[in-house]
Amino acid sequence: MALSFIEIQAQNKVLILGIDGCRPDALLATRTPNIDQLWQNGAYTFKAKTDNLSWSGVCWTSMLTGVWKEKHKVYGNGYENPNIEEYPHFFNLAKQQQPDLRTYSIINWSPIHKILQENDATVMKNRLTDGMVTRSVANALKNEDVNVMFVHLDHVDHAGHSTGFTPDNPKYIRAIEKTDKNIGKILNSLQKRKNYANENWLILVSTDHGGSGTNHGEATPEHTTIFYIASGKDVEKGEIQKPVYITDVAVTALKHLNITLKDEWKLDGHVSGLK
Ligand SMILES: [Zn+2]
Repeated sequence: MALSFIEIQAQNKVLILGIDGCRPDALLATRTPNIDQLWQNGAYTFKAKTDNLSWSGVCWTSMLTGVWKEKHKVYGNGYENPNIEEYPHFFNLAKQQQPDLRTYSIINWSPIHKILQENDATVMKNRLTDGMVTRSVANALKNEDVNVMFVHLDHVDHAGHSTGFTPDNPKYIRAIEKTDKNIGKILNSLQKRKNYANENWLILVSTDHGGSGTNHGEATPEHTTIFYIASGKDVEKGEIQKPVYITDVAVTALKHLNITLKDEWKLDGHVSGLK
């Protein structure tokens, strides 16, 4: 049999890097070589939009369910009555079609895990610092069988709340620089995967909201403008021209994992940045 008849299909995998409270204008004003190589060789927009109610709980839930708060019902950081039976975490949707997927969620801010139902995440870890999150992520990526991973880093949001969410605040800028270094370590360990050459990773980088002064939560451009970066072999390189929303993250991840997007899921997000 001729070898040319055998198509070797690379295995599609997804890594989502969530940087809490990172304004796009501040990101662009910071020296971030690791994040830069992702967007400069990928699909990107620095004009994407998060929810008008720009609290972390609301926005992370929109990112990870692919629907807005009117559906997922998370209206704040208390996660009182999330409507996860009807609008679950995208890990749940993915596993409906591919039950063997190995799904990882490694985070700093623990409430994010309140929308995970039993078995949604194969591995879930909540770490106290971004350094610990980074080490845990790097270890898992280097050594374990991972199909999709969500990572949450909190240091930038913390700097914003304590010293101000502005590009002219050196402490906020330094926090973004430090986060870029952590992302560099994560990307480095990803490339050390034994089977990396046969894997087709889509890397998505985004944030839940911006901020002004020392807070966020409002419907102002400073709070609701976010960035969206997609990197990998299957992305359409360059600035994304259509409107992009935080809900696109889950939907784009599902698409790359070869999940059929079902109408009955009533997803609000769209696929963004892929060919
Ligand atoms: Zn946040």
